[in-house]
Amino acid sequence: MLLNQHLVEAFVSQAIVYGDYEADDAIYIQNQLLRMLNAKGIDTSSASPLSQDVTANDIAQHWIAQAIEAQCIDDALYMKEIVEAQILDLITPRPSTLNRKFKDAYQQSPQAATDYFYDIAKRNHYVKEDAIANNINYEVATEYGDIEITINLSNPEKDAKQIAAAKAAPATDYPMCALCLENEGFKGSVTQAARTNHRVVRLNLGDQTWGFQYSPYAYFPEHSIVLSEQHTSMQINKQTFINLLDFIEQFPHYFIGSNADIPLVGGSILSHNHYQSGKHIFPMDNAAEIERFRIKAFPDIQASTLNWPMSVIRLKGKDREILINAATHVMNTWNAYSDDAVHIKAYSDEGERHHTVTPIARYRADNYELDIVLRDNQTSDTYPDGIFHPHKDVQHIKKENIGLIEVMGTAILPGRLKDELQQVKAYLLGKRDIDLGQHQTWADEMAQVHEFDQHNVDEIVDKAVGDKFKRVLEDAGVFKNTEQGQQAFKRFIDSL
Ligand SMILES: [Zn+2]
Repeated sequence: MLLNQHLVEAFVSQAIVYGDYEADDAIYIQNQLLRMLNAKGIDTSSASPLSQDVTANDIAQHWIAQAIEAQCIDDALYMKEIVEAQILDLITPRPSTLNRKFKDAYQQSPQAATDYFYDIAKRNHYVKEDAIANNINYEVATEYGDIEITINLSNPEKDAKQIAAAKAAPATDYPMCALCLENEGFKGSVTQAARTNHRVVRLNLGDQTWGFQYSPYAYFPEHSIVLSEQHTSMQINKQTFINLLDFIEQFPHYFIGSNADIPLVGGSILSHNHYQSGKHIFPMDNAAEIERFRIKAFPDIQASTLNWPMSVIRLKGKDREILINAATHVMNTWNAYSDDAVHIKAYSDEGERHHTVTPIARYRADNYELDIVLRDNQTSDTYPDGIFHPHKDVQHIKKENIGLIEVMGTAILPGRLKDELQQVKAYLLGKRDIDLGQHQTWADEMAQVHEFDQHNVDEIVDKAVGDKFKRVLEDAGVFKNTEQGQQAFKRFIDSL
């Protein structure tokens, strides 16, 4: 296999503009490309197979397809990703350069710094905009305001060969996990993501070093991860509020939040302490305040409950120290709070902790805001998956843990739903011989209350998915939006 000279020249010029290279590095870069692609030399006789304004990523994709065709690299997803990350590393500044330029840009503004970093992450295909564009997104109006639905179709499917190879691969503990800083520049393997082109900005939060990186398969604009330098488990405590507000003070144009630190009510990774941030207004941000109150010991902090399916206390203030102490007080009170009347229990009989919070921080209208979402991870005989977890009758839409992003009103739903909902729609339009499996009861219920035709089926089913997600969030709420639930919420607030 030979690499087209015009493409090599186009790629090299981008490596010089965007990477850490100069004109004298051209031959060196060319030889790196030959090595990565197992190519034999340069084709100087053919015209360019791609258009003039081609990006480095376009060229990389072209070469990878060519190399697979020529059997120079294995036709396996993980191998393509490793080669892609290595090639696009050449147009990416070294970590030290990137960190220095990020700091320089920050002198101009926090947004200039994040724009600088985000542009690099998109350009070197670490953030996979093309894959993210496959997601299905829409909004549904509810009594809590508009909620957001995303059917996640961005993650590439692993083929059977790769799944088998991953099973056979020996266990490894380097990097310790997918969030560890040791992933920066890591080659990857059949079980570990290709990260040669991955970069992490170092931040100081709570007098400790934290990493800041973008998420390859973003769920919202500039979806980023803030991670502990150490591989230590998720923890929600006073230090969390300090770190979140340190971040917001440095990047007031972003929100930041954390998943919970106990099983069932948080995200999928409990083993490495991390937060999620980004530039997005979530449905919960816009939730109306329903009851304003003051916490006795913190008269300067405005507190309120929200018109929201989950139980949230919003705290606002100008003084960070006081806000952190008020949030810590709410969290500590909740972590020790039980109310038999509404099945809320802080500790199991064996002393295991059931309570934690999902915290979210933002800066708005000259105030720091902390939303503290109350969580309880008990199970029972009636609800073996979790009392405050999606119940059986809504699990056909969502059965996973309700983490930070869902809490804020953005449903990330499994990709399987794309085809399954098409089946549901076909059924509702009269193809009654389809077996809808777990969606059958739901479809039959809809068929009873609506007359379906080609024009209304999408709208009605999309809305019904939104209503199911609303129920998912209501299931996860500890104080229900009923008279009994709201009285119980009031008792908790009075205890503050
Ligand atoms: Zn880790």
